[in-house]
Amino acid sequence: MKDINILWFKKDLRIFDNEALTESLKDGDIIPLYIIEKELWLQRTYSDRQWQFCKESILDLRNSLKKIGQPLIIRTGKVIEIFDEISKKFYIKGIYSHQETGDYFTYQRDKEVRNWASKKQIVWKEYLQFSVFRGNIDRNNWSKKCQKNMAKSLFIEPSKINNVEIDIGLIPSDDYFCFKNDLCKGRLKGGRENGLKRMEYFFSNKLNSYSKDISSPEKSFDSCSRLSPYISWGCISLKEVFHKANLNHNNNSKMLKSRLTWHCHFIQKLESEPELEFKEFHPYFHKIRKNDNFLLQSWSEGKTGFPFIDACMRSLNFNGWINFRMRAMLMSFASYNLWIPWQESGSVLASKFIDYEPGIHWNQCQMQSGTTSININRIYNPIKQGKDHDPKGTFIRRWVPELKYYPENFIHEPWMMEKFNSIKYANSKYTKPIIDLLQTTKTARKKIQEITQKEGYWDISKEVYLKHGSRRKQLIKRKNFPKNKDINLKVEHQYELKIEL
Ligand SMILES: Cc1cc2nc3c(=O)[nH]c(=O)nc-3n(C[C@H](O)[C@H](O)[C@H](O)COP(=O)(O)OP(=O)(O)OC[C@H]3O[C@@H](n4cnc5c(N)ncnc54)[C@H](O)[C@@H]3O)c2cc1C
Repeated sequence: MKDINILWFKKDLRIFDNEALTESLKDGDIIPLYIIEKELWLQRTYSDRQWQFCKESILDLRNSLKKIGQPLIIRTGKVIEIFDEISKKFYIKGIYSHQETGDYFTYQRDKEVRNWASKKQIVWKEYLQFSVFRGNIDRNNWSKKCQKNMAKSLFIEPSKINNVEIDIGLIPSDDYFCFKNDLCKGRLKGGRENGLKRMEYFFSNKLNSYSKDISSPEKSFDSCSRLSPYISWGCISLKEVFHKANLNHNNNSKMLKSRLTWHCHFIQKLESEPELEFKEFHPYFHKIRKNDNFLLQSWSEGKTGFPFIDACMRSLNFNGWINFRMRAMLMSFASYNLWIPWQESGSVLASKFIDYEPGIHWNQCQMQSGTTSININRIYNPIKQGKDHDPKGTFIRRWVPELKYYPENFIHEPWMMEKFNSIKYANSKYTKPIIDLLQTTKTARKKIQEITQKEGYWDISKEVYLKHGSRRKQLIKRKNFPKNKDINLKVEHQYELKIEL
């Protein structure tokens, strides 16, 4: 039997700056392998739009590898079964891959693979995909370690790979997954080539307006990098973007670099505690909310009766991407005003994002639902957000055609029309608000505040902070910490409830 190493591609679909690939080639012939795992794709956080993006990226990778001698080998099934099958034809010396901090499914799958490899005495070598570290993490030194890793040089792509004789395998047809129909016509196309084009466009034309336009749903569509799906699927490496940003010395590139660092900061939390995908950071928030299918579906379809929420959701449904502030607002609305468990609304959102990245996603879902206990809690007011970021209602009119001819004065609050023209209001095809915004905001605030006053709340919060909190430079006194506790902690943010009424 021929000796080979398996280079297991996961969410690192590129040959440039691919440490696992570079290292594997130092030790003889390789089988570059991508495994399509049906069980993973059947999870409710995954969707057709993500699969299409992933498929385009796999095809692009197959092409790049083919050019240097060995096309990508594709298999469909369970990872261990595929490895077993290969081991019948080849002597597997080692498995090379990047570390993955994915969802709980991949966490458990990797444990099984580790056991399998150890039983077979096959070495599995893993390399850093991001600045996310395994084992016991000293949070006080995390930032330094992260910056050091970001500054490391990039791995150049190999010029040749020896061809190994093996069936290259087919990608299954789209029907195989039985996904719901999900056209997502406005999404970016996958693959490194498309990612590089987007990166070039952003750095050459948009970096200078990045900070100015970042919060507007309309302008950010062009002015934000929108590199997230390429980073998430690994078509482009995070380090690569960081190095590119380093070539510019202005506030915009600084801002971009800090976001790239957040990327790792958030994933680090899931790496340290994989259960955060479904378990609250602070246990006092466990099961405080109730599911409601009608509210969840109205929200998911952009039919809540709140124009800015609906416009953002419909835009996301069409494009598979929306900016940070709008994601936060959508999540806040679901968690505070609709009072739906973040696990439910978060799964719906995840499946809409072509950049779904579990470490960032579940952290953000919890942050925008007030369950971390170490962040500023903000209840967004969608009317205020709409007036601030879409003052003329252009974005609303584009995505909510039912309101196309509504006068500007009423575009953010169509229900106000009732007083002036009750017939027009009654005849409007646009949904009437599904909840009372003011009342639900007040109730949510009260419920969250009551929880923070429960005995022992701050002791647990401190533990959460020590494990997961970012050590920012300034010392902030924590307002709500009991006096006799050591309150001079450097906290990620002062814990408080910001409310927009
Ligand atoms: C509820 C919610 C869910 C989210 N889910 C995801 C997700 O599944 N995948 C994802 O990549 N981002 C997620 N984010 C973070 C953020 O909204 C996106 O990273 C960002 O909008 C992507 O657009 P961009 O590439 O143009 O970002 P840019 O502003 O151009 O930033 C460049 C890169 O920095 C990183 N980044 C930017 N903002 C953040 C942030 N707030 N936290 C962590 N990293 C950041 C991303 O890698 C991004 O591609 C979520 C935010 C919220 C509020």
